[in-house]
Amino acid sequence: MSCSCCPNATWTFDIASFSFQLWAVRDIRESEEITISYLDLSSSYDERKQNLLRLYKFECDCLACKHHPITSSRRKLILDRDSLANIVVKVRMTDLSLPEGHLLGPALERIDICDEEGLHAADVYLAQLHILFLCYVVLGNRVGAEICGRMLLTQKFRLVDPTYPAIYRSELAAVIKILEKSKDVTSYKGWSSRRKS
Ligand SMILES: [Zn+2]
Repeated sequence: MSCSCCPNATWTFDIASFSFQLWAVRDIRESEEITISYLDLSSSYDERKQNLLRLYKFECDCLACKHHPITSSRRKLILDRDSLANIVVKVRMTDLSLPEGHLLGPALERIDICDEEGLHAADVYLAQLHILFLCYVVLGNRVGAEICGRMLLTQKFRLVDPTYPAIYRSELAAVIKILEKSKDVTSYKGWSSRRKS
């Protein structure tokens, strides 16, 4: 299976069946080649290039690598999970004086970057989806929270992957527990907490 830094699939190892499992991370067109990343998607272009040459003896020609001067700076914006932008979003969740757009704007922008950069197989995509879900929850935006919740449910396969970072798995497990239990996003802790009474 070919390597891409914007892959449309990823794999997990299932201990119960002792088998590798392949998962689509976004819709795949009929004629589209199925690709996975051989490396950690959070690494920089230079790191990816060096490691692919060293370990697999080839240079990646995916779209992200072809256009690396542009894609590298965009990816850098979101690949640091604890970057300033995420902290700003978290602070804004609790500031009731700020308009809703100040909260949703940066969260949606970061999901857009994941979509455009094809980073759906990256750990941070899940973190960004979770942050967006929490934004909708504190805003009491039921439609947004339900759509985002369904997107999070498509990531459920990551719960069985022992190589997936525990922090992401626990975040995902918490959301899935609520969504599967009641299917009612308004039961999520902190629902509509930013709404002024
Ligand atoms: Zn590449």
